[in-house]
Amino acid sequence: MAKQQSFADKAMKAAMHAGLKCEKCGEIKQPTLLIDSVPSKHGGIRFAQTRVKVCKCNEKEIYG
Ligand SMILES: [Zn+2]
Repeated sequence: MAKQQSFADKAMKAAMHAGLKCEKCGEIKQPTLLIDSVPSKHGGIRFAQTRVKVCKCNEKEIYG
């Protein structure tokens, strides 16, 4: 059991070091590439890519 505990501790420290753990919900934020279609001036559509980090706090907004 000591091994598991140290692994969890390491994983947690790594997550905190990377800044990926959400302070609100405690979930690890998943980096996601979001693609939005944006109307262009010439009547077409262009695609804008946005990098977002998704956790429980914002997953509903992002995945709709
Ligand atoms: Zn969160």
